[in-house]
Amino acid sequence: AEQGKPFDEARAEVCYAAGFLDWFAEEGRRTYGDVIPSSSADTRIVVLKQPVGVTAGITPWNLPAAMVTRKLAPALAAGNPMVLKPAPFTPLTALAIMELGVRAGLPAGVLNVVVGDVADAAAIGAELTSNRTVRKIGFTGSTAVGKLLLEQAAGQVKRVSLELGGNSPFIVFDDADVKTAVDSMMAAKFRNAGQLCTAANRVLVQHGIYDDFVTALAERTGRLVVGHGFDEASHLGPLINEAGLAKVERHLSDLVDRGGKVLTGGHRHALGHTFFEPTVVTGLDASAVMWREETFGPVAAITAFGDEREAVELANDTDYGLVGFVYTRDVGRVWRVSEALETGMVAVNTGRVSGEMAPFGGVKESGLGREGSKYGLEDWLEIKYVNLGGLNS
Ligand code: ADP
Repeated sequence: AEQGKPFDEARAEVCYAAGFLDWFAEEGRRTYGDVIPSSSADTRIVVLKQPVGVTAGITPWNLPAAMVTRKLAPALAAGNPMVLKPAPFTPLTALAIMELGVRAGLPAGVLNVVVGDVADAAAIGAELTSNRTVRKIGFTGSTAVGKLLLEQAAGQVKRVSLELGGNSPFIVFDDADVKTAVDSMMAAKFRNAGQLCTAANRVLVQHGIYDDFVTALAERTGRLVVGHGFDEASHLGPLINEAGLAKVERHLSDLVDRGGKVLTGGHRHALGHTFFEPTVVTGLDASAVMWREETFGPVAAITAFGDEREAVELANDTDYGLVGFVYTRDVGRVWRVSEALETGMVAVNTGRVSGEMAPFGGVKESGLGREGSKYGLEDWLEIKYVNLGGLNS
């Protein structure tokens, strides 16, 4: 009700969000230290894992439950209290999670939520980054704000983990299974109406399969139902706000001005408000705004490529590096392309990458650190090494 995604997707997000709490509650029991052989017989080298201290979480509106628990769960499991600043468009979900924490018996002060309007974000961010009590910032949001927080955190050399923007390539090779690729595209592009940092942003299709894939994608996309999130028939809800909608329109009209051809959709939806038609457009190239920036809306923009080398070059032609999607049945190619993509994650023959057990995160300007998995727990722990000497009598 707060964010607008269809109810089934909202339920799935709540399970995903709860998954972080379950998983890190277990993994917290395995924050093992280490004993390292010393070069001296009368010393022992012992490695301890300790909580970082007071942490801050700053979260976006697109996954208002899961982005909170993806930070909160490892923070708590590692022994850190948190001050959480949810997005101004979705504070109620964060407050509901805090209430559940209170009911579950979290001691007072362990989880604290600070809400504010859009205009308050800079002041809250400045306090969280300049207050000496805060030792770590975990942020998910835009690359611009992530860079600002990184700069601000530098003042006290605070630990920072950042999950920032993406510009994901979705690469379909000639030998791919068209149905698998199209099914994956439905999830990778149209889930949450395309408002995901992992969303496929640049669709690269090899010449030999191009017509089949594009025809099937346009046909499936044309059947998607846009509507109220509580209407069971809806596949897509509204976009978050008018600014989000204006960005989608700007990206699309830029591509159409450059010769892009709309195969389905292309306009604001007849429902009005911030609903937009699921859209497939061809003619994407490196001069388009969509090539450089993530659209964050329900527009699949497609271009063709010749060979594997060209696909990898096109895919890596971005400052971002969150996830790459790859469709092929050639196992050698799976390895070559997975290793060559400059991304933190690769999805092969599937449209999904997220899960509490896997390390989510990006390279290049998509972020620092990982969330989820044992690697995600490390991000909320300090290593302390104790050199224990004088043991010989
Ligand atoms: P989006 O474009 O997805 O809204 P933002 O990066 O603007 O991404 O927002 C993500 C989160 O960062 C939100 O909670 C927002 O309020 C917060 N935020 C925005 N500006 C700042 C800032 N200057 N300092 C700290 N947090 C900020």
